[in-house]
Formats: sequence, C-alpha cells, structure tokens
Amino acid sequence: MIIELTKRQELILQIVKDHGPITGENIAERLNLTRATLRPDLSILTMSGYLDARPRVGYFYAGRPASSVIIERLHKLLVNDYKALPIVVHESASVYDAIVQLFLEDVGTLYVVNQKGYLAGVVSRKDLLRASMGNKALESIPVSIIMTRMPNIVTCHSQDTLLDAAQKLINFQIDSLPVVRNSEEDAGGYELLGRITKTTIAKAFVELGKETNV
Ligand code: ADP
Repeated sequence: MIIELTKRQELILQIVKDHGPITGENIAERLNLTRATLRPDLSILTMSGYLDARPRVGYFYAGRPASSVIIERLHKLLVNDYKALPIVVHESASVYDAIVQLFLEDVGTLYVVNQKGYLAGVVSRKDLLRASMGNKALESIPVSIIMTRMPNIVTCHSQDTLLDAAQKLINFQIDSLPVVRNSEEDAGGYELLGRITKTTIAKAFVELGKETNV
C-alpha cells in the first residue's frame, strides 16, 4: 500500500523513531491529543508497514515500507541510464537496404537521418512490410518516401524519466522512441543519442523487481 503521509503521521513517526518502543497513550500525550483521535493514524502507519505494534510494549519504527521504496526508485529511473544505441539508416537508402539493416541489427525500428546526420524520420517493421506488398522494385524506393517524418516523430530526452517515455509509447501506440538532443548549431536539428523501446521498459521493470526483492 502506498500512502502520502500527513503532517501528523510524520510527527508520530518521528516520536516513535526517537522514543520507541512507546505506547499509543504516550504518543497521544506528547501530541496533546486523545488516544481515540490518534487511533486512525496509528492503524494506517501500522498497516502500511511504517510501524510495528507489540502488545503491552508499544510501537516500534519498522523502516520505510518496501512499496514506498520501489515507487520512489521507479520515478527516478532516467532514459539516459537505459537507452540503447540508435540504429540508423540514411534517408537515401532503399527500402531493400532498410530491410536488410533491420535483420542484421535485429531491431524493429530504424531511425532515418539526413545529410547532416539529424533525425529525419522513423521506419518500422510495418512500414517496410507495407511498402513491400506487391512491390518488386524495393531497391529503387528510398526509405524517405515511406518513413514517418519530422515533425511527426515522438521523441524523448536523456533526462526524461523512463516512466514518461513508457507513457508516450502507450499514448502514441508505438514501439520505440528516439532519444534526441537539440543541435547547438542548427535550430530544429535533432541529434540522435539512443532509443527507448518496449524491450528497454521490460528490462528496467525486471531489474527493478530483482533489485527490490521483498
Ligand atoms: P510496427 O509498425 O512495426 O508495429 P510501431 O508500432 O512502432 O511499429 O509503428 C507504428 C507506426 O508509427 C509506423 O508507421 C511508424 O513509422 C510510426 N512510428 C514509430 N515510432 C514512431 C515515433 N517515435 N514517432 C512517430 N511515429 C512513429
């Protein structure tokens, strides 16, 4: 259970940390409240794992519950620490070349770059399949014709949280997000730093689970 502690609950925790084991009666006295007023707070703190209660002894501080540690860690995971290398193809490359690249690199999406090396578009498996259906001249069609192009590319930045990136994958129903940095020389130019994919998110999820074994 994840809870946002109230001021009073924080005070109770501090008292138990400093003076535990301590009875409910004693805590109430220190706060100038009745035992009855305090009861709901004490049961919330006990149920959520912050406090341990022993009959006839009183309350002990049990530490932060694992659930709250996990949630805090989750919100701190950054794109920068999980991004994979971007797999790129030049905008003049053919659809055929892109398909070969996709297999060689074992990825589902390629990022298309322009002359300057800036992000120009994205080609996914389905884009390539669509272009291949009933089309024999795959070597003569440039990927730039079939790609999803800027400015319609959904991107993320190194300092974004992984949680925000995952939310974008879901909102836009896509498999991958290019990690970009705005070029210092060219306004509007996006340098490619990496990629975040559904696999990245799955890996982080498993890692987090292992790290915080309870
Ligand atoms: P697939 O087509 O292999 O299922 P996606 O679901 O990622 O892969 O792609 C769906 C469509 O969205 C494709 O047309 C692709 O070009 C486009 N697309 C993929 N990634 C992005 C992105 N980051 N921003 C905008 N469009 C994207």
